[in-house]
Amino acid sequence: MTQIAFIGLGHMGLPMARNLLKAGYPLKVFDLVRSTVETLSGEGAVAADSAVEAIDQAQVVISMLPASRHVESLYLGEEGLLARLPAGTLVIECSTIAPEAARKVHAAARERGVALLDAPVSGGTGGAAAGTLTFMVGGEAEALERARPMLAAMGKNIFHAGPDGAGQVAKVCNNQVLAVQMIATAEAMAMGVANGLDPAVLAEIMRQSSGGNWTLEKYNPWPGVMESAPASKGYSGGFMAELMAKDLGLAQETASHNGNSAPMGALALQLYRLLLKQGKGKQDFSVVQQLFV
Ligand code: NAD
Repeated sequence: MTQIAFIGLGHMGLPMARNLLKAGYPLKVFDLVRSTVETLSGEGAVAADSAVEAIDQAQVVISMLPASRHVESLYLGEEGLLARLPAGTLVIECSTIAPEAARKVHAAARERGVALLDAPVSGGTGGAAAGTLTFMVGGEAEALERARPMLAAMGKNIFHAGPDGAGQVAKVCNNQVLAVQMIATAEAMAMGVANGLDPAVLAEIMRQSSGGNWTLEKYNPWPGVMESAPASKGYSGGFMAELMAKDLGLAQETASHNGNSAPMGALALQLYRLLLKQGKGKQDFSVVQQLFV
């Protein structure tokens, strides 16, 4: 079976790698945080001490890192993985990064004869654990067909968004909508509760009404409304506010390339920057609720 190197075992990478193990793929794993590598080696993966060690013998490399700079430094330059991967290797890069950065890595991969996909995901840590992620894929259709069985082990919906970088463009569009919905939901929850409503009752009314959206379905920001949501666990786990701020920054850059205006995204970015200033960047992005209470 295809030998996979999996690099980046954070909130998302760890459960994604677990699903590949469950599907029977031999996995060699690496993260800068040793404890997560050890967790997975206890579950059947081979632990590597470096990214270079992880890719030894790998036919496929999957990475799930925080941002553009991490991805560029992992793959590019004389010390980067692309300088070492044999032609014919498939790289599935799942981090959310700038479309421009993704295109740069695509170009370097093509020069080396390495097939690469930008394949960011949606669905949160719950979707990663359940294997129901949505993949938004940019790159060549042929590479996507090679990747499909592995993507299917980690996700439910697999979209070919278009050529190099297209997956990232789709992802920043999606996350801008998510941020705006989260903020609007948090604002309304605070308003309703301040005016005497029970938060659980209000949440259910809006969920079943025209205000219904993904955050009300799966991720209510008000503590105690949804037992499994990060809001009910002190805003821990989930998707860090600093990563949402990063994605909103990417959305602004993406909009400005074509002279588009993205005012809702701009306001969302400013609100998330405020949260970061308050020292809440490492908490789940639903912590935006606290701006309104
Ligand atoms: P995270 O910070 O929890 O995990 C990133 C991991 O990468 C960390 O464990 C870190 O140690 C590791 N890492 C960083 N540089 C490395 C390197 N050079 N070599 C090896 N490991 C390295 O972040 P996350 O929440 O898992 O998100 C990962 C990506 O997925 C981000 O781009 C994020 O925007 C995106 N994303 C996150 C969610 C979510 O709900 N958390 C949902 C969709 C997309």
